[in-house]
Amino acid sequence: MTIIQPFTSDYDEFLRDESRSVGTASFIAFPETEDDVCAVLRELHAEGTPVTVQGSRTGLAAGAVPQGGCILNLSRMNRYLGMRRDEDGRFFLRVQPGITLMELNHALRKRSIPADGWDAASLEARQAFLDAPLHMFPTDPTETSASIGGMAACNASGARSYRYGAMRGHVSAVRLAIANGDMVSASRGQAMAHDGVLSLTAEGGRVIAAPLPSYAMPHAKCASGYYMMPAMDAVDVIVGSDGTLGVITELELELMDAPQSVWDVACFLPSEQHALDFVAQAHGIERAISIEYIDAAALDVLRERATGDVPLPPEGPCCCVSIEIGAEDDAAMESLETLMEALEQAGGDADATWVASTEAEREGQRVFRHAVPENVNRIIDERRRTYPHITKLGSDMSVPFDRLPDAVALYRSTLAREGLEAATWGHIGDAHLHVNILPRDMDEYARGKALFAEWAREITAMGGAVSAEHGVGKLKRDFLEIMYGEDAIREMARFKLAFDPKGQLGRGNFFSEELLGSLKS
Ligand SMILES: Cc1cc2nc3c(=O)[nH]c(=O)nc-3n(C[C@H](O)[C@H](O)[C@H](O)COP(=O)(O)OP(=O)(O)OC[C@H]3O[C@@H](n4cnc5c(N)ncnc54)[C@H](O)[C@@H]3O)c2cc1C
Repeated sequence: MTIIQPFTSDYDEFLRDESRSVGTASFIAFPETEDDVCAVLRELHAEGTPVTVQGSRTGLAAGAVPQGGCILNLSRMNRYLGMRRDEDGRFFLRVQPGITLMELNHALRKRSIPADGWDAASLEARQAFLDAPLHMFPTDPTETSASIGGMAACNASGARSYRYGAMRGHVSAVRLAIANGDMVSASRGQAMAHDGVLSLTAEGGRVIAAPLPSYAMPHAKCASGYYMMPAMDAVDVIVGSDGTLGVITELELELMDAPQSVWDVACFLPSEQHALDFVAQAHGIERAISIEYIDAAALDVLRERATGDVPLPPEGPCCCVSIEIGAEDDAAMESLETLMEALEQAGGDADATWVASTEAEREGQRVFRHAVPENVNRIIDERRRTYPHITKLGSDMSVPFDRLPDAVALYRSTLAREGLEAATWGHIGDAHLHVNILPRDMDEYARGKALFAEWAREITAMGGAVSAEHGVGKLKRDFLEIMYGEDAIREMARFKLAFDPKGQLGRGNFFSEELLGSLKS
């Protein structure tokens, strides 16, 4: 019996994600197993019905917002499937895609991974895991309700990617259901592209031969379009494919030793230039896990609006650079001393610095950082009451680290030229800032949007990426074209069509309907 249901208003919440864009759908399905996913895809393939995959819908680029057809929501695929330990003693956990980051973190921290139905080898690895020092999964895209499958599809990252890199590096294997319902397995090191083609054989024998696009990826943090390298691993391109190549039905995650202690140090500096000087010195500091930034305007928003237990920054104009250090206690103290020296040299005040070492103290600083986007979003929501068409205008661009001062200068000069209000924060250690324009009316909104396109061109010219972590989805399609050019997008579309010849999956993500239509055989 089919699990595809007609779409009714009871499911309206599934028409949107955190970008607050709203789509349309005719059907919805909530598979619980890989077989369910394949059955749904087979059924929809005959008619070429569009399929939009959803994890937790926390995405900010409208990737999970349907453009007609069927929603395939994976939130019920949330089981732990097994574990293995390799000859180097590393642990690998096999999961379904609907497990949330919050659930995974809890299971790892409490060493309480459910093992129902696991085979003997997995149970043995699990016992070794329980006896080993604490492990963690390092990718943390802030929003812990995100699903593991969605995080992989967007190649999510977040603050700690400064040390650990993005999601891609922590996925060792995936299973992918392609549009016709066939399954493809890819384990790291086993399926590599060569001679300009990525060839994969689906279970059942169908061969996918996808021609590699010829564009070069930037030397900056990047979640813009398909990962592409001449001899790339199939796992690397499936991660970051934004629901356009297939449905990730299973992932194997590499776990890491958790640092013995983590210190969270919030430094306040008198100006943005002081902050940039400090970041230049702190970059590369041993044992740093993250280097984050909050600008003066965003701190002002907190002072004016934050309620409850949110710690407030010191009085007077200042910016905040937060650095997490992860290590054993003595080593952490050594890094902290180096950091304080760098802070004083950059004109910061060690006495005004917050140092959090206990879990409760760190939670206070986490609340402080999270209160920034929350309160900025409230401003947008208030303005939307007068101008309902205003949406959040938050950038997600990155540059190579040596171009960080140029990117900041670009943002500041163009915002001043346009007279636009903005609040900025983000992953400054990765030269990746979220500049959030706060339009006061529709004219400012239009000028803000135009400014984003200008930034996309300039950031591309600096060797950067138009999306560093949120993915392209539907909202940044134009920027993707600015970054790589029309020909490269066409090549990307041909690569997609090798997996999905009818262009059913992730409709509207990366590619316009017109483009895919013109290339379909
Ligand atoms: C407050 C807030 C802060 C955030 N901060 C960060 C941050 O710091 N760093 C960061 O990287 N992100 C951040 N995000 C964005 C978001 O959390 C990530 O994009 C997340 O990885 C998406 O996961 P999801 O399960 O919600 O995916 P969804 O939104 O449901 O889907 C995202 C995309 O993945 C596809 N997809 C989902 N599951 C699968 C699957 N199993 N197979 C194939 N395709 C699939 C969808 O089709 C869609 O294209 C933030 C979001 C919010 C709301």
